[in-house]
Amino acid sequence: MEESAAAVVQELRARFAAGRTRPAEWRAAQLRGLLRMATEMEAEMCDALHADVGKPKTEAHVHEISLVKSSCLFALKNLKKWMKPKKVHARLVTFPSTARIATEPLGVVLVISAWNYPLLLSLDPVIGAIAAGNAVVLKPSEVAPATSSLLAELLPRYVDSTCIKVVEGAVPETAALLEQKWDKIFYTGNSKVGRIVMGAAARHLTPVVLELGGKCPVVVDSNVNLHVAAKRIVAGKWGCNNGQACIAPDFIITTQSFAPKLIEALKKVLDKFYGKDPLLSADLSLVVNTNHFNRLKVLMDDEMVSDKVVLGGQRDEKELKIAPTIYLDVPLDSAIMKDEIFGPLLPIITVDKIHESFGLINSMAKPLAAYLFTRDSKLQEQFEMNISAGGMLLNDTGIHLTNPRLPFGGVGESGTGSYHGKFSFDAFSHRKAVLHRGFWGEAKARYPPYSPAKLKIL
Ligand code: NAD
Repeated sequence: MEESAAAVVQELRARFAAGRTRPAEWRAAQLRGLLRMATEMEAEMCDALHADVGKPKTEAHVHEISLVKSSCLFALKNLKKWMKPKKVHARLVTFPSTARIATEPLGVVLVISAWNYPLLLSLDPVIGAIAAGNAVVLKPSEVAPATSSLLAELLPRYVDSTCIKVVEGAVPETAALLEQKWDKIFYTGNSKVGRIVMGAAARHLTPVVLELGGKCPVVVDSNVNLHVAAKRIVAGKWGCNNGQACIAPDFIITTQSFAPKLIEALKKVLDKFYGKDPLLSADLSLVVNTNHFNRLKVLMDDEMVSDKVVLGGQRDEKELKIAPTIYLDVPLDSAIMKDEIFGPLLPIITVDKIHESFGLINSMAKPLAAYLFTRDSKLQEQFEMNISAGGMLLNDTGIHLTNPRLPFGGVGESGTGSYHGKFSFDAFSHRKAVLHRGFWGEAKARYPPYSPAKLKIL
């Protein structure tokens, strides 16, 4: 296994060294290939996403395929501009000279992706790596096998397979890849494996981007348009892979007095979106597999929270379905409040005053996203000032990732580095300082023998 991983890297190193991936034309051709693939193979992609996680077609299209297409288009539109060296001012001490920042590809990079958005999380980093002129190995998630094998089958048909390769596999195959020397590793997944990836990278001094997760809080103030807030919370939680999304609301904080109204509003919206029996709804994704189902079952059966259910709680183990389930006032030391839930369970924590939410959030690991619903501009300002998170959204959930002009990534436990749009290009580029001089303009004071007089000039 390790030999074949080494052979892949060796082959790509030779291609990269020969300069094949550097020209703008090569990069653009690959991006056009990916765009064509996402357009022509849309139906196959929807089928694979449905087979892997029961993803509704609308979610497959809007949350994955169309985002892949728009990423390709954005990179294609901006590629020449991104590649152009940026002139900077020269300093008097280097007179006469010109100075610029030139971007160069890093070399041969590894992208390891996760199962929950298996298409987007595979192709979006690859788009950045290609735009920046690298040779790439993509290792899709074995937990989404249909999408993994579709990517392995399709990529060689649409892009240059001598420089862009898919290696399928689970832990042993990934471990073999991680033994190799890469010029960057881009990993999406949980923080436990993130530590393994970072450890492996450290052995070769390889830089990493780690796109991890965490518990994304949603603070709901009483000064809101409650109906709109409830819809947007439901869309961000259950409308995104049934809660199996890195930026899905993980828990809500609201005031004791407002909680009953919020719960009522959430119930109404859930009822409208998914009907009286959500287990029958075709618009909710399944839990991805038995392991994750059992993990969620343990959270639900925990006696610290099992009597705190205010909505939902139904599940069907055979069909891997869990209904949207809301809890009120679970203890902060219960399992559901410790780790990222990554599923359709949503606890609500109540406080006396909404500002108490800040202390609670700051006592936990820094989340990938933090959400606040309020009309109160002062509260919005304080939230932005006091809460550290990968990204932040005021009066909505999740949609910040659709803006390619915003960096997407975590901070602290939720990750390191960021991507999307130009940030993806930067993540896979080295910014090289280039200072250019001629042969005139010698300052004698620079050279020995040194003297106090020369020091004065310098
Ligand atoms: P996963 O099980 O698909 O694992 C991710 C990748 O790690 C896979 O390719 C897998 O093969 C590899 N892997 C697993 N165990 C490994 C090991 N021991 N050694 C080497 N490689 C290994 O996905 P997951 O981790 O269950 O994903 C869910 C997590 O990812 C959540 O925490 C979620 O918040 C986070 N996530 C983050 C983002 C983001 O953009 N920040 C996006 C999606 C998911």
